[in-house]
Amino acid sequence: LFQNIPLAEPDKIFHLTATYVQDKFPQKVNLGVGAYRDNDGNPWILPVVRKAEQIIINDPNTNHEYLQITGLPTFRTASAKLILGVDSPAIKENRVSTCQSISGTGANHLGFLFLSRFYRKDVPVLISNPTWVNHKDIVRSVGLEFREYAYYNPKTNGLDIDGFLEALNDAPNGSIVLLHACAHNPTGVDPSQEQWCKIADVIGAKNHFPFFDCAYQGFASGDLDKDAWAVRHFVQRGFELLICQSYSKNFGLYGQRAGCLTVVSKNADAAIKIESQLARLQRAEISNPPAYGARIVSLVLNDPQLHAEWVEDLRTMSYRIIEMRKQLYDKLIELRTPGTWNHILEQIGMFSYTGLRTSQVKVLIQKYHIYLTDNGRISMAGLSTKNIDYFAKSLDDVVRN
Ligand code: PMP
Repeated sequence: LFQNIPLAEPDKIFHLTATYVQDKFPQKVNLGVGAYRDNDGNPWILPVVRKAEQIIINDPNTNHEYLQITGLPTFRTASAKLILGVDSPAIKENRVSTCQSISGTGANHLGFLFLSRFYRKDVPVLISNPTWVNHKDIVRSVGLEFREYAYYNPKTNGLDIDGFLEALNDAPNGSIVLLHACAHNPTGVDPSQEQWCKIADVIGAKNHFPFFDCAYQGFASGDLDKDAWAVRHFVQRGFELLICQSYSKNFGLYGQRAGCLTVVSKNADAAIKIESQLARLQRAEISNPPAYGARIVSLVLNDPQLHAEWVEDLRTMSYRIIEMRKQLYDKLIELRTPGTWNHILEQIGMFSYTGLRTSQVKVLIQKYHIYLTDNGRISMAGLSTKNIDYFAKSLDDVVRN
């Protein structure tokens, strides 16, 4: 029956990690995977998460019953507040629908699935070029079409704002626009607040639908509110929109799959209907979401003391990454590596788009055992004071040859 189906390509990032794990070279470096590592290169369980886990385990009321179809209520309301702000008028006016999801990926999937059923079918999803590797497959998987918009300017290693706005203008009215709320993956290049205003102007004029993917709140700047600025700006301007939240990076809960989908609509009546349909879609897909990660996040977000500790943990992660950016930049300047490297300092969040060509990436992997994706993206979290010299020298060598 199935002997003629084509062999699917392995996922690039998971494949890269598997190759790294098999590599026996002692100085090998993994800059491929988008997961935080401490200065010893180890996964880091946030101290606040450890604390929350103890509280949950020791609570005699903890059990392994099913959650509701739309997830843990305290987690959902806290998630909406985290992204929209505690004083959000949309929350006060009850025009927010939330549904717990299988982390950020599941939120994207459920969000696009919802739009494929209840939004126009004759418009494309506009996706940045480049974007997170999974976006296109998720959009395709629910039968929607996509089109790319200009985003990254390789000449400046910054944002191509003119190309971006032009693409928004050229797209059919009412298109769905997929936007990275902060810390754009893979480029680490975010619009400034002024640029976000211009983007919102065009999206409004064209009657496009904003779809925010927020996988790095608190991770970009270390400031949760600042990282939510773009989303809140759109809400304040009266847009109906959709937001995907992931707690993989900012809580380090990668494998626990904690996330949330939020839809901001025009009124409370629409919000009730939307939530009912999200529940319907969710029931057929996963029946109900996993409880453990959501319990941890809910406990932390709803307790002022734990919340404050979480903010400290977030700063530990984001400041170490910023420090690695500085050190890498200084070392490349010291080595007089050909080219300009300011973008390493300016780019935001976990990733840096180095500007390396695919052929140069190949040499880094094969000769130096430094693993990164072929688009030249490096995860800054994979660098530490122990491997940064080796990486800078290898990079220098590759650029010169
Ligand atoms: N969106 C973007 C832009 C991402 O970078 C990621 C994580 N790599 C996700 C969504 C979702 O990740 P997860 O499903 O692990 O939360």
